[in-house]
Amino acid sequence: MKYGRTYNFSAGPAMMPEPVLEEIRDEMMNYRGSGMCVMEMSHRSKVYQQIIDDAEKDLRDLMGIPDNYKVLFIQGGATLQFSMIPMNLMKNGKAVYIETGAWSKKAIAEAKKCGEVIVAASSKDKNYTYVPDCSDLDIPEDTDYVYICENETIHGVTYDKLPNTKGHILVSDQSSMFLSKPCNVSDYGLIYAGVQKNVGPAGMVVVIIREDLIRDDLENLPIYLQYKTHADNGSMYNTPNCWAIYCCGKVFKYLKDMGGLEVMHQKNLDKAKVMYDFLDSSSMFKGTVEKEFRSLMNVPFVTESKELDAEVVAATKAAGYDNLKGHKSVGGLRASIYNAMPKEGVEALVDFLKKFEAEHK
Ligand SMILES: *Cc1c(COP(=O)(O)O)cnc(C)c1O
Repeated sequence: MKYGRTYNFSAGPAMMPEPVLEEIRDEMMNYRGSGMCVMEMSHRSKVYQQIIDDAEKDLRDLMGIPDNYKVLFIQGGATLQFSMIPMNLMKNGKAVYIETGAWSKKAIAEAKKCGEVIVAASSKDKNYTYVPDCSDLDIPEDTDYVYICENETIHGVTYDKLPNTKGHILVSDQSSMFLSKPCNVSDYGLIYAGVQKNVGPAGMVVVIIREDLIRDDLENLPIYLQYKTHADNGSMYNTPNCWAIYCCGKVFKYLKDMGGLEVMHQKNLDKAKVMYDFLDSSSMFKGTVEKEFRSLMNVPFVTESKELDAEVVAATKAAGYDNLKGHKSVGGLRASIYNAMPKEGVEALVDFLKKFEAEHK
């Protein structure tokens, strides 16, 4: 690794592609002859308008977002969407949620403040180590939407196929898998992603919403919480997170230049295979998730004891592999291997863990 950088296995904020960081560095003091840093620019300037327009265009190209979907850059992180979604989409006051781990649980708790929440399937019985069967859910006719967290960052589970929503709109939290593989946007009514997991700096969420779901009958909702406000003003009703939009735009372009999401997906498959093959062959380390539902992005694993887990975390950190401690709610270890983690990083970690295992037999 250049610059003395470390292989950072953090769940988020997480690694960004090195060429993108270098480009940002090169443009830091004087962005393309503007005489200023992007951090110092008016969001109403021509030069900044170009940055946000390019970011949206590159994201649209990358995902093949149809014209009848709006792309919004909103502050408040993914967490604010736990509230904005029910506030904006609950017309009949009823929604179906699938409970697969910590992040869908949080979304359920917030939605309950807005209306009736039906948890139609849950994997709580096995401590969120799989995705429940969603092929024939009990969905009331007047349900406003079906909600999933498509990749549970803490529990490391992901959907092998999308739920059968029986004609209802699908809402998906893609925070920790956004742009990790191709996505057929028209399968969804709304997709959102906090960008600090797999794209850029913290403090922003990308919302992709089908136009007909943007309502104009919500006058009593605070203006900032209405999707309409952000859609009508090109994500600039107020000052947006200019810096995050700029950095994310660079990552979108980087992924496009690399060959797009098919290419990224193949890299992610190759990378995750290194990790999971190791876990399947090790007698000291074990993956915690059922095979079909293993995340390509977040890999939780454990040893036989908490003490040994802690010892491994300390040893990896000392060896230059950072942030492998599992989330405090589940313990163990977790390697987050997002888009920007190179395969060499995973291979190096696996080599280290193999050595650790051999020395502690
Ligand atoms: C991190 C995360 C969130 C919360 O993101 P913030 O930007 O910190 O609000 C929500 N959902 C998932 C799946 C996440 O990984």
